[in-house]
Amino acid sequence: MKKVLITGNRGQDGAYLSRFLLEKGYKVYGADRSGDSGLWRLRELGIEGKVKEIALDLLEPTNIMDALEKVMPDEIYNFAAQSIVRVSFDQPVLTAEINALGVTRLLEAMRKVCPGARFFQASTAELFGSTGSAQRNETTSFHPRSPYAVAKLYAHWITVNYRQAYGLYAVCAILFNHESPLRGEEFVTRKIAAAAARISRGLQQKATVGNLDASRDWGYAGEYVEGMWRMLQQPKADDYILATGKTHTVREFIEAAFAATGIRLVWKGKGLGERGLNVATGKTVVEVSKEFYRPAEVDRLMGNSSKARTKLGWKPKTKFRELVTLMVNAELSRLDKKKVNL
Ligand code: NDP
Ligand code: GDP
Repeated sequence: MKKVLITGNRGQDGAYLSRFLLEKGYKVYGADRSGDSGLWRLRELGIEGKVKEIALDLLEPTNIMDALEKVMPDEIYNFAAQSIVRVSFDQPVLTAEINALGVTRLLEAMRKVCPGARFFQASTAELFGSTGSAQRNETTSFHPRSPYAVAKLYAHWITVNYRQAYGLYAVCAILFNHESPLRGEEFVTRKIAAAAARISRGLQQKATVGNLDASRDWGYAGEYVEGMWRMLQQPKADDYILATGKTHTVREFIEAAFAATGIRLVWKGKGLGERGLNVATGKTVVEVSKEFYRPAEVDRLMGNSSKARTKLGWKPKTKFRELVTLMVNAELSRLDKKKVNL
């Protein structure tokens, strides 16, 4: 039985990967900070209690050494991160401690305790920043535009460095945005899906968002974890992009989310004064606020995952509209469940 240690196991990707690896017969160790934040995800996937819990904070080297010595994993997936771009502008030092130095702590512990293990680092499309409109591939240069992305860039290169310097099997996936009903509500997709569902049931008046014109390559998280696992099953360690190859604006996401609840939108006004109105009622259901803008924005992201398609045999299946609909439907059934439980 293979043993796997997943940091940030109670986050979106950790939860999906845990379920995937439990189904494959792995013994899964979930390394998380104390408290029960995120346990709801394991509960929703029906795997609560099936993952062995290990206390670990990426800020604390002792935790990391202890966890590795205890588990002696065959595979390590590092998802633990301060993962919210907007927050990284308010907490740049903490973000770097976790997202950059935390990865060095983990790699250094692995080098000492279990150098034969295979290591996965969750890199991000944010590394590219605003580098034009073309699809990014593994050779595109990096121009990070947030403290989050700068810290992740360090983590990316330190992982490559440990591979080259010490011969560790250590890889990075450059992950384009991947979403699901398990996404945190701080992210725009889940925020919109939840708001559209509540508005359609009369439980909320409107949603307030930021830059409607930002464009992202949005895939379904449940499928991305298989690509990550495949990366660790290759004869040779290498880095790959995981992406859909399509890009859509926040505005399009909002239109699709409301459409999934049966509400048609029309846009009025410009810039911060722009509003989305429910065509049927004439009421404003979407407004824009400066609060949700970033000091520096990545306007558009679109990835080319041909290398993963060819070498890993991985490709995403869920299309944009299917993703939006499955997220909105999940929010509607959460509301139905709440009603039954009242
Ligand atoms: P989440 O935010 O859902 O999960 C991150 C996890 O990291 C949470 O469980 C969080 O725990 C944990 N964590 C935060 N700080 C620490 C710390 N100091 N020590 C230990 N654990 C910590 O992220 P996702 O699952 O969406 O993403 C997984 C990884 O992939 C992240 O590294 C993210 O940056 C990266 N990524 C994700 C993309 C996406 O679209 N989802 C795109 C590109 C990269 P707690 O609840 O206690 O805060
Ligand atoms: P990110 O790509 O990892 O930063 O994921 P997010 O979901 O946080 O943001 C995706 C894009 O949506 C970014 O360009 C944001 O500026 C934009 N956006 C617009 N409105 C909002 C909002 O209300 N919340 C968030 N989180 N992002 C928003």
